[in-house]
Amino acid sequence: MTEDELNKLLLAGKIAAKARDEVSLNVKANAKVLDICEEVESIILENKAFPSFPCNISINSEAAHYSPVINDEKRIPEGAVVKLDLGAHIDGYISDTATTISLDAKYQRLLDASKTALEAAIANFRAGLSVGEIGRVIEKMIRTQGYKPIRNLGGHLIRRYELHAGVFIPNVYERGLGAIQSDSVYAIEPFATDGGGEVVEGKDVTIYSLKNPNVKGLSARESELLDFIYTHFNYLPFSERWLKEFSTNVDELRNNIKNLIKKGALRGYPILLEIKKGVVSQFEHTVIVKGNSIIVSTKSL
Ligand code: MN
Ligand code: MN
Repeated sequence: MTEDELNKLLLAGKIAAKARDEVSLNVKANAKVLDICEEVESIILENKAFPSFPCNISINSEAAHYSPVINDEKRIPEGAVVKLDLGAHIDGYISDTATTISLDAKYQRLLDASKTALEAAIANFRAGLSVGEIGRVIEKMIRTQGYKPIRNLGGHLIRRYELHAGVFIPNVYERGLGAIQSDSVYAIEPFATDGGGEVVEGKDVTIYSLKNPNVKGLSARESELLDFIYTHFNYLPFSERWLKEFSTNVDELRNNIKNLIKKGALRGYPILLEIKKGVVSQFEHTVIVKGNSIIVSTKSL
C-alpha cells in the first residue's frame, strides 16, 4: 500500500465518520429518510469525496439495504431502531461505516450488544488471524448479552472500487475462512437481534450495481444508461436518485433499470429482513491492516 493510497483511505474514512456523526443527530421520529440520506450524501460531496454506495436507512426488523427512492415519503416511526449505513470514496479508495440510533430507551442493550462486539472484534483484529476467530469474538459478545448475531450478514474485504471484495468476516464462528491479510482493508459489522438471527430477502429493491457492462441486445437508451452508470459509479452500488442527470422521467428510469437487470447488465440488492421480524442493531467500522498495526479509518473525530 503506497502512502498516497493510505492517505486516500484515511480521508475517505474521516469524511464518512463526519457525515455519520453529524447526520445521526437528525434521526428523529417523523423525519423523512430521504432528507437524512440527502444530507449524508451532500456532506460527502462537499468534502470532495463520493458516496461509496447509497446511504442506507434500515428501520427495526429491516437489517440492511433500504435506501430512499426518488420522491420517497417514508418517515422515521416513533420509537424506531434506525441503522444509518454510509461510506465515502476518493478515487475508488473506500470507507464503509454504520451506527444505530434507538428512539426507544428499551433497545439500548440491543445497541450495546453490537457496539461492544465491534469494539471486541477491532481489539482482536490482526494480520494472520483467521477471520472465523473474529466471528467467534463477535458471536460470544452478542450472545453473552442475551441476543443473537445475524449469521448470514457480516463484514468484508474492501478493494479499490470494490466494496465487497470476496472475503467474508462472519458474525459467528466459522472454520476454514482464511486469514486476515496485511496491507488490506476490511469492514467489520456485527449485527445483533432479538429475533431469529438470520435475514431473508424482501421484495423491495432500492440499490443496484453494474454486473456485466458487455451484455448484448440492449436498446439505444438502455445502452446509454449503462454507459452513464459505468462512467459515474464503476462497479460501486448506486441509487435511482443518482440518475436524475440522465433522465428526470422516473417511469422511464425505473423501466430501463428493470430491463437492464433482466438482461443481466445490472444487479439489484433486495432489502434484507430479519427472519422472525426481530429488531436489528448494527455498528460498522472500516479498518486498515498496515503491517502489524490496525488503523480504524472511520472512528469519530
Ligand atoms: Mn456498511
Ligand atoms: Mn459493509
